[in-house]
Amino acid sequence: MAQLVWYRNNLRTVDCEPLNAACASGEQVHACFLFSTTQWQNHGWGPNRIEYTRKSVAALEKKLQALNIPFHIFFTPTFDKAPGVIRVLAQELGCSTVHWSREYEVNELRRDLETKEILDKYGITSIEYDDDVVVPPDVVFTKSNDPFKVFTPYKKRWLEQLDRRLAETGRIQPTNQESDAKTELHVPDVLTGYEEFAPQDPWAVGEDQALTQLDTFITERGSAYKDNRDIPSVDGTSSLSPCLAVGAISPRTCVLAARNAIKANPKAAIGLDTWISELAWRDFYKSIAFHFEHICRGQPFKPETKSIPWRDDDEAFQAWCTGQTGYPIVDAAMRALVATGWMHNRLRMVTAQFLTKHLLIDWRRGEEFFAHHLIDIDFASNNGGWQWSASTGTDAAPYFRIFNPTTQGRRFDPEGVYIRRFVPELASLDAKHIHEPDTLPPLERTQIDYPEPIVEQSYGRNRAITAFVNTIKQPAETS
Ligand code: FAD
Repeated sequence: MAQLVWYRNNLRTVDCEPLNAACASGEQVHACFLFSTTQWQNHGWGPNRIEYTRKSVAALEKKLQALNIPFHIFFTPTFDKAPGVIRVLAQELGCSTVHWSREYEVNELRRDLETKEILDKYGITSIEYDDDVVVPPDVVFTKSNDPFKVFTPYKKRWLEQLDRRLAETGRIQPTNQESDAKTELHVPDVLTGYEEFAPQDPWAVGEDQALTQLDTFITERGSAYKDNRDIPSVDGTSSLSPCLAVGAISPRTCVLAARNAIKANPKAAIGLDTWISELAWRDFYKSIAFHFEHICRGQPFKPETKSIPWRDDDEAFQAWCTGQTGYPIVDAAMRALVATGWMHNRLRMVTAQFLTKHLLIDWRRGEEFFAHHLIDIDFASNNGGWQWSASTGTDAAPYFRIFNPTTQGRRFDPEGVYIRRFVPELASLDAKHIHEPDTLPPLERTQIDYPEPIVEQSYGRNRAITAFVNTIKQPAETS
């Protein structure tokens, strides 16, 4: 008999539970991946993420070749074809068991349930693993056995599970297989229709590069993470989000590496404990998507925010998308997203709040725009980040606590280094004026080809607060 590993959100061989289990069986191991580009596109992914996935699958193929594990590639545009393809492949290869890593969103869960049912019918066992999270969503519950809706108590329970989860993990590598089976179809050099992607040079591709990047971050920048993580012009974060999104690195490996570094140097805890918290946020949002499926259907987490009167203002939305709002930090971040396929976390919050509060435009439009451009698009984190910013989500920013974009720029890009990089028309301004070009003397201002603010800051803020107060009928607290 043989074993089949169905790859999806865990494109690695190191610390890969389905692969380890299949190899441990002692039987011939096969692996497969399904390119479901139409489905991914229906989920909002753009060419950046699709191309990054292709490259990551190609890197995985090389790793599997080195282990003598035949890798079977399929092009199944939508998920509905997946159960049949997996069943036929498992039968043709004589597999008794199919192993895969769980994905927690509605369509993925439905696909997997259907696959399980069809495999059952044919007497093939299917085993699921939680390979994309540190702690699985159906392990962490409140005392009354409900899923958590608030991050802090969730994290407390999550931390209690860590030792057990990490004891089972580490950089476990499967052993070489004794197989000379070959596959005919290989990962293509291009996926037709998805050629128009942003330059992807700075991003680690595949598990070897991801592990190296993890080591570099932990040893060189980890202890300063808390101080530097909010400064977009500084390389202060791990930049591992694309690797985590495709599973080229295991989130358990990341937490374990951080914990080991803290053991070796307790002073590093100040930065690395904060970093571990971010990985807990990642799990938290996956748990929210799993337990509250209405968020996968475009609904706000909080039903009372369903009727917020979002404005239908295409011109303002276009100005936001193209980085022409007249708020330099917002414009720099939006231009960076379009040019590079990535945006710094602080600026994801600033731009998302600007769209949903100052412009009072529906968070779903921003969520979709981010999904189309982000190389690291991950439904749960993107939705969680958007609903946090829009104050429609679980444990979200209170609707009256609204980032002032100019103050955020001054605080997190004080010298305007980041703004200069992405808004060249402001590059010659000094640190004082770069955040508010309209404070320049009139003659100097006319010489700069940069838009005036599309909305006055306090007007936009008050309009948003009023919309929330009128909708949810709660008075605004003073922030
Ligand atoms: P680091 O700071 O090094 O953090 C390590 C890892 O922790 C990240 O790679 C990521 O996997 C996880 N993480 C960090 N911050 C968060 C967070 N706030 N929520 C959930 N996980 C987090 N992250 C995505 O991976 N994909 C998305 O599509 C996505 N969309 C977002 C949209 C909005 C509006 C907001 C506010 C945040 C979004 N995030 C998303 C979270 C966060 O911005 C990115 O994970 C982070 O910027 C990635 O950079 P890094 O790898 O250097 O992170």
